[in-house]
Amino acid sequence: MALIVQKFGGTSVGTVERINNVAARVAAARAQGHDMVIVLSAMSGETNRLIELAKTITREPNAREMDVLMSTGEQVTIALLSIALEARGCPARSYTGAQVHILTDSMFNKARIVDIDGARVRSDLAQGRVVVVAGFQGVDEQGNITTLGRGGSDTTAVALAAALKADECQIYTDVDGVYTTDPRVVPDARRLDRITFEEMLEMASLGAKVLQIRSVEFASKYNVPLRVLSSFEDHGTGTLIAAEDEDMEQAVISGIAFNRDEAKLTMLGVTDQPGVAGKILGPVADAGIEVDMIIQNVAEDSTTDFTCTVHRNDYLKASNIFRAIATELGAREVIGDDKIVKISLVGVGMRSHAGIASKMFQTLASEGINIRMISTSEIKISVVVDEKYLELGVRALHDAFGLANLPGK
Ligand code: ASP
Ligand code: MG
Repeated sequence: MALIVQKFGGTSVGTVERINNVAARVAAARAQGHDMVIVLSAMSGETNRLIELAKTITREPNAREMDVLMSTGEQVTIALLSIALEARGCPARSYTGAQVHILTDSMFNKARIVDIDGARVRSDLAQGRVVVVAGFQGVDEQGNITTLGRGGSDTTAVALAAALKADECQIYTDVDGVYTTDPRVVPDARRLDRITFEEMLEMASLGAKVLQIRSVEFASKYNVPLRVLSSFEDHGTGTLIAAEDEDMEQAVISGIAFNRDEAKLTMLGVTDQPGVAGKILGPVADAGIEVDMIIQNVAEDSTTDFTCTVHRNDYLKASNIFRAIATELGAREVIGDDKIVKISLVGVGMRSHAGIASKMFQTLASEGINIRMISTSEIKISVVVDEKYLELGVRALHDAFGLANLPGK
């Protein structure tokens, strides 16, 4: 018998009828003898609705009070699920984050979990109850309600699974797993049976938004196996996200991620001397702008060109900063482009295979796609290309690396 933490997202508990379906699923697993801890999101749309209510009062509502407000959505669903379980004769108890001591720091709206005391949950499990916990919320040292950032129920589930040493943390959502790429772009994208934490972090941060990234970081840190499953299907096995398995035959490439929200800025003719890169990026960071790729070319005539990418929403702000610094540094010119995208190949298997980069570049070239920037890490190669080539590029790479018909990983 196992201890399983299951998390159901907003669409899975979006109506009373769906909550009843969740109850049936949970009761069935309980009947098989498993210890069940359930973490729920608010009904889909509810958190947004609550935020809107506050915003009709003031543009910048008080952060502490927003957490009091936003945390109510989850309190509704945990109570309804427990009522549904009890009505089926399955003993259950619901708890808010504070009641099961999900202790966080005091950063309202984006608090981090620092500790969980699992005693209360364990004692209920020992008495044969299903324990239903509100996702997304915790409590700080002073007893204030906190929330963990949008999508934070995933992190609640993983943190509980780590604290209780659960056998598996299952995330039920509206997709049936993690795919080799976005099926809306590549119709024959394939569901992965298995992916490593590292790969999932690369896929998630690059735009494959299945799980809150922090929940994957947490799972990786505490080695909690995570499984993504569809709550609308009965027999799927979803995608297991777990530590790298040395014995397993590993596909070279696991997936292709992409990001449409990119923009790039280049400062041309910057004097090549110590401190210049810091002078350029310092004010950008001070303005709260995140920089992704950074490239500086080899200086030939004692000047160099400096390029970086930023989120498209920050493009205007960043280019103004770049222009001001260029004047200060006596650089020649600032140019930029906000019609670019980033495409990345991700796979732990590429560590041991040479030639992945050249195959990637050749594939893009054969489609007439010009590569504007390149960056690599141990398990990822990213290129920046013109926005209009996104679909073509991703499809060509998906084909070239045989992702549609890989044998099960
Ligand atoms: N209800 C919260 C949100 O919408 C938390 C969650 O669903 O994970 O962000
Ligand atoms: Mg979610």
